[in-house]
Amino acid sequence: MELRRRNPGAQFQWYEVDGRDAREWLLPDLKAMTQGHCAFCDTFPLEDRTLESIEHFKPKADQRFEAHAYDWTNLYFCCGLCQSEKGVSWDDDLLRPDHENYRFDAYFQFDYTNGAMTPSSLATEQAINQAKATIKAYGLDIQERRRMRQLELRKWQKSSDRDIDEWAYRDYLQNDAGDNSVS
Ligand SMILES: [Zn+2]
Repeated sequence: MELRRRNPGAQFQWYEVDGRDAREWLLPDLKAMTQGHCAFCDTFPLEDRTLESIEHFKPKADQRFEAHAYDWTNLYFCCGLCQSEKGVSWDDDLLRPDHENYRFDAYFQFDYTNGAMTPSSLATEQAINQAKATIKAYGLDIQERRRMRQLELRKWQKSSDRDIDEWAYRDYLQNDAGDNSVS
């Protein structure tokens, strides 16, 4: 914030603590909180370490939120695709993945014929707006996501490994309830 007051174009930089930047200190704990899954799309594993990132839910580049750059509740373990889709956009309706009482079904539903993710037809009007904003911001229904969800489901159906935390898109796999209709 001080840097920006001196130079409005100043870019965000993590503090350095004991020779490592704060990002390196924070990332392992944020990662553990989601079992290594992206907090937004649930992809797993984020194999290439350069794809492991910390998402500032309220964007640090937005002057309204610059005081939240180090706010623990504003930081999430996040994949590169979600990061690049969201960029520095902000919408007051965005849904926090660790929102208290969060239930996937209260906001979203899947179409198992094509992997699509849409607001739940049973959701309240407010929840529909939140689901729409979240799907749009993180690109959760772009073609690539649909394809990746379907690929993971096919692998899951053929595998005997039922340790769900070792799989991507856990809501997609678990909501399928053994339905083998995806070809
Ligand atoms: Zn993601």
